[in-house]
Amino acid sequence: MAGEPQADCLFCKIVAGDVPATLVHETATTVAFRDINPQAPTHVLVIPRAHHRDAASLAAADPQAAADVLRAAGEVAAAEGAEAYRLVFNTGAGAGQTVFHAHVHVLAGRGLEWPPG
Ligand code: 5GP
Ligand code: ZN
Repeated sequence: MAGEPQADCLFCKIVAGDVPATLVHETATTVAFRDINPQAPTHVLVIPRAHHRDAASLAAADPQAAADVLRAAGEVAAAEGAEAYRLVFNTGAGAGQTVFHAHVHVLAGRGLEWPPG
């Protein structure tokens, strides 16, 4: 069920502390940790503690939690000293989503081309 921990979800396991991660920021509703395969000098994933399959599903089910994720992303960027950064929500396998627990990528620390490809 949406919001409930999923036994087969990697990011639910990180929230639970069952899979280790390098945490950089935590709130009552969010967790942020460094991506295991960084695509920029700063590459942090911010996730809701509750399980939702993607960002839009999160926003539909719990708008406050979606806002909490965005606020945390901004706080992570500030803590990393990023003057400019990019937030990415890959949604659907065709767009590169591989973990189906909502997450935003915070990317910074290098030139970020636009359009992103
Ligand atoms: P997606 O491709 O779904 O948008 O993003 C998933 C991200 O999770 C990828 O950038 C991938 O490198 C990262 N990732 C996958 N497994 C792990 C893990 O075990 N630990 C951490 N910290 N990141 C992971
Ligand atoms: Zn999950």
